[in-house]
Amino acid sequence: MEHLEKYQVATANIIKMTNLCGTIYDVTVENEYLAKASRCGQFVHIDCGDEFVLRRPISICEVTDSGIRFIFDVRGKGTKRLSEKQVGDSLDILGPLGNGFAVRKGKSLILGGGIGVYPLYELAKQASKENPCDVALGFRTKELVTLEDEFKTKCDNLYIATDDGSYGFHGNALQAVKEKLESGAYETVYACGPLPMLKALKEITDRNNIFCQISMEERMGCGIGACLCCNIKVEDDGEEGFKHLHVCKDGPVFNAKEVLL
Ligand SMILES: Cc1cc2nc3c(=O)[nH]c(=O)nc-3n(C[C@H](O)[C@H](O)[C@H](O)COP(=O)(O)OP(=O)(O)OC[C@H]3O[C@@H](n4cnc5c(N)ncnc54)[C@H](O)[C@@H]3O)c2cc1C
Repeated sequence: MEHLEKYQVATANIIKMTNLCGTIYDVTVENEYLAKASRCGQFVHIDCGDEFVLRRPISICEVTDSGIRFIFDVRGKGTKRLSEKQVGDSLDILGPLGNGFAVRKGKSLILGGGIGVYPLYELAKQASKENPCDVALGFRTKELVTLEDEFKTKCDNLYIATDDGSYGFHGNALQAVKEKLESGAYETVYACGPLPMLKALKEITDRNNIFCQISMEERMGCGIGACLCCNIKVEDDGEEGFKHLHVCKDGPVFNAKEVLL
């Protein structure tokens, strides 16, 4: 498998680690290679400890001068173990992996829901550099609203939504900007979040012919296209009408028009 040659394992030192809220952790690691090679929308595959056979995929939230930053929620044993690491510990990181977002010219909307918010921060930094950009972020409740001030400095308009209405718009991030989106305000939409939100978004962007890139978070094994477990269906001209692609190797970012959700 010649494509495996491009993958590198980096040893990265944790230089900052904060508990943002609840079970959400914000980690910055230092590694020159990761700082130089990482792009918005890519992810890394982290060795959480000797007891785990598989690494855990976590998106790159920000590319810093000396490394990368990632933000994760504790969902199971691997991320729990990761949350117990401390500043000064080193992490074994495979990456950067995946294709990342292709930043386009023109007015864009960045849409994130839940942990899908965190892969979008570096994108907001890049997309807002020369082009107008709005951001809509959705969280379950007020206590989980994170990165609000940081995103605010990287966009023209920031819309915050909570499922329970305890902060900002009552509903999800897509509902908060649906009217503006349907009015043709954006040339490009970039999104990451729960499947129902991505499905609803795809329906709108397909119908209105808006270019939309979505980042998919499928259960993943190897992270480099060898184990084939993170496959998704995309449109294909062949007899079946679809083919399988791998989120780790061909994604995680896909043209929403092509993905069968
Ligand atoms: C491309 C990509 C980017 C991601 N980025 C982030 C991020 O920035 N922040 C964040 O909080 N989470 C992110 N996730 C989800 C994160 O990988 C899982 O929450 C994590 O792997 C759970 O591991 P665990 O050991 O704690 O849970 P367990 O449920 O014990 O994990 C068991 C196995 O299932 C896999 N797994 C479980 N849930 C998921 C999931 N949702 N997606 C993929 N694999 C899963 C694990 O990797 C592991 O191999 C991302 C997932 C993918 C695929």
